[in-house]
Amino acid sequence: MIKAIKGFNDILPEQAAKWLQLEAVLANVLARYGYEHIRLPIVEQTDLFARAIGGATDIVEKEMYSFADKSEPPTPLTLRPEGTAGAVRAVIEHNLLRGDTPKLWYIGPMFRYERPQKGRYRQFHQIGVESFGSALPDADSELIAMTHLMWQELGLKDEMRLQLNSLGEIDERYAYRDALVAYLTDKQDQLDEDSKRRLSTNPLRILDSKEASTQALLADAPKLADFLGAETKAHFEQVQAYLTTLGIDYDINPHLVRGLDYYNKTVFEWVTDKLGSQATVCAGGRYDGLVGQLKSMDTRESKDDKLPAKSEPAVGFAMGLERLLLLIDAVNPMPPMSACDVFVVAHPEVYSSGISYAQNLRHTRPDLRVKMASATSMKAQMKKADKSGAALTVIIAQQELDDNTISIKHMQTGEQQSVAQDWLATAENFTRL
Ligand code: ATP
Ligand code: MG
Repeated sequence: MIKAIKGFNDILPEQAAKWLQLEAVLANVLARYGYEHIRLPIVEQTDLFARAIGGATDIVEKEMYSFADKSEPPTPLTLRPEGTAGAVRAVIEHNLLRGDTPKLWYIGPMFRYERPQKGRYRQFHQIGVESFGSALPDADSELIAMTHLMWQELGLKDEMRLQLNSLGEIDERYAYRDALVAYLTDKQDQLDEDSKRRLSTNPLRILDSKEASTQALLADAPKLADFLGAETKAHFEQVQAYLTTLGIDYDINPHLVRGLDYYNKTVFEWVTDKLGSQATVCAGGRYDGLVGQLKSMDTRESKDDKLPAKSEPAVGFAMGLERLLLLIDAVNPMPPMSACDVFVVAHPEVYSSGISYAQNLRHTRPDLRVKMASATSMKAQMKKADKSGAALTVIIAQQELDDNTISIKHMQTGEQQSVAQDWLATAENFTRL
């Protein structure tokens, strides 16, 4: 028996019904903020991710599903590990920034070769949001406020803590990186293995090391906040001021870095204490350099030198839907939804009348979920009706047709009665539970 690949999950009907409900709530909040939906490919050129996310990140170094296609020469391709790179590519390719400041969202599977565990899978799903065109702090706080409203709608407001940090502009971060490396180089032998390696590849990631000994070492290390310029500081303070105005609590976490290289200034994460070490449900930040960087990648062949990147500011976030659902199941489970409200049972000899009745009912009562079983015996059909979860069963046999009636059975009480054929056309007679 061939089984699904490790870390790639089937989402079975009972669970998938919850996905639909969750997605509807999130899409509704996004619409209320005027964000537009975009659909993007799952496969992109490997180069896009290497350049956008950064060659020394965990994602690009060891988590990507990459392969060569059958073209000649073969094109190196990758199953998207995240959505921002592809969204930015699409925005550039289709000139969406011309004269407008698009605010976009997408949803779909992402792929990372990680060790599968609760809340961490190899195929997982994100809702991603990207807001282009504003360098001002209101754009940062709008995204955070939108996620806050999502938590409210989902009954999760008290489960989420907002963590904030500012990574500064690139030059500020580079100056800090040099200072951090200088500080840690003498103490290399006290670092954990991962952090030792990161000292030369991606030193800032050392800040979010889980090792207590490394964290102890960092207590006296230079602080990123001391390397931020006046403009960056003012931006960060204004983001916080807006959040305070909106009544959104936050913690400043000076060690919050993020595993993707494109961020500058504000970064944020929504974390919960209900999911063990897979605590981050939603994460994002500002990435003012990425559009310019990917644009210059476009023209690099003709222009030899890097083009000076025009400022094309943007902010975005991604929300992990599996983790969100785990959290919902843990603290505020959605009521199970039956796939059926009304079950129609028709005697095999008048089965076509049953089909017509059900078809008509689905047309006149779009709010109801109407099911039938195949044209087997009445007893077999009634058994299916029992199992279906329907609140009401409609029974149609020759007698009912002769009288222009239907028999209805209230499944909870077992009570059965004869009513007019169009009884269900009146919504007051029967509403969904
Ligand atoms: P983590 O620190 O948990 O590895 P990350 O920093 O790699 O997360 P991002 O790339 O920022 O995560 O992705 C945003 C969100 O997507 C995460 O906060 C999480 O909810 C979700 N996510 C990321 N990787 C996975 C995964 N392998 N399985 C399930 N959800 C994931
Ligand atoms: Mg990760």
